[in-house]
Amino acid sequence: MRFPTVASSLLLSSFLVFLLSGCSKPTVDVPASLTTIGQATPVTVHVHSSHGVSKMTAIVEQNGAQYQAWQTTSAAKSAESAFNFSVGVTTIPQLKDGHARLIVEAESGGLFGRTERWERDVNVITQPPTVSADSDQHYLYLGMADLATLNVTGSYTSAGVRVGDETFRAWPMPGGKPGFFSLFAFAWNMPANTMPLVYASNGAGNDVTTPLTVIFPKKEQPVYTQHEIQVTDQFMQKVLGELDPNGTGDPVARFVRINSEMRKENNKTLSDLRFKTADHFLWSQPFTRQSHSQAEATFADKRTYIYHGKKIDEQVHLGYDLAVTQHVGVEASNDGRVVWAAPLGIYGNCIVVDHGYGLQTIYGHLSRIDVHEGEMVKRGQIMGLSGMTGMAGGDHVHFGMQLDGVQIDPKEWWDPHWIKDHIARRVDLPGFSQ
Ligand SMILES: [Zn+2]
Repeated sequence: MRFPTVASSLLLSSFLVFLLSGCSKPTVDVPASLTTIGQATPVTVHVHSSHGVSKMTAIVEQNGAQYQAWQTTSAAKSAESAFNFSVGVTTIPQLKDGHARLIVEAESGGLFGRTERWERDVNVITQPPTVSADSDQHYLYLGMADLATLNVTGSYTSAGVRVGDETFRAWPMPGGKPGFFSLFAFAWNMPANTMPLVYASNGAGNDVTTPLTVIFPKKEQPVYTQHEIQVTDQFMQKVLGELDPNGTGDPVARFVRINSEMRKENNKTLSDLRFKTADHFLWSQPFTRQSHSQAEATFADKRTYIYHGKKIDEQVHLGYDLAVTQHVGVEASNDGRVVWAAPLGIYGNCIVVDHGYGLQTIYGHLSRIDVHEGEMVKRGQIMGLSGMTGMAGGDHVHFGMQLDGVQIDPKEWWDPHWIKDHIARRVDLPGFSQ
């Protein structure tokens, strides 16, 4: 009979499995973004080890020599732990620019300590990049955009313009010219004393900045208007039926959740479309505004929502509401490529057109969409029909514009003189004419 043998070997192997799992090797995880080491580059290591970590060491290996960069001073008891330290020339002055290897060793706690060794090729860059900005005077207006040119030398992984906590990418100058440029926005809600900086970073903790020369004409800043929106029962039912059809509970709470939470999510979706942008100008003429349209609301209007005489919410409206007649053909404001053509919460049926370099136009509340994602459109081309889908009480086109994911006032882009002075004068905009 072979059965007892099978049974006993099963018993033995389960015992072995038990033993091994009880003291399994730790797993070591370092973010993939860590590829460069500079002066003192921050490193975060996540370790999973059922019996904790008794000891951990980080080593840098270069040209056959090994240097200890960091070591734990006490054991970590929990199964999941994160270790933060920095590695670089500050603590290992022997490191030279060039190739090296980062090694992390983690020894598990418990009776049978086992060691996991993790390694990655890294690049040592001891010198930070340098960055310089143009000497133009940049007039800043809340909610509006401008263009800066810059130069970056040395090794860097990202560069552009930083305004507060918002960053705007730098792009190589068009036409093969030397240097870079960045379209940037001074957001409608940015504190007035925020200084836009040109920056370059090499991903090794080396970050250099230089300020742009800016003028912030206090008296000419846009003044945002206040509006009261009377939310009727009919409008509330329309919005709830469309945007929260299966919801239950207090209608006012549901309405406010759509108006705030869903608005925020939808704006995040729009903002993320900045990664779907062309690395060249897709347009050459000024942007256009929907023909024969009346502006029923303008950029950054503050809206108070009143229901049965009581204020229930307030929001900022980041676009223009352009009304013509019902089901009018919605015109592309400029040449570009469709990067969104689908329902988008409060924006209803929505189209987003990319114009290159992070500049995009948004069209909301359509009753019909006649274009597809990926399709190229021409300035003035009809892309669908206006309507009142989403958070809209009447037929109109919600027209918005965003720059690297930050919503801006479109009005300057409708102005050929502004485009000449701020864009075409500073970079090659092939085919531009006034
Ligand atoms: Zn609107």
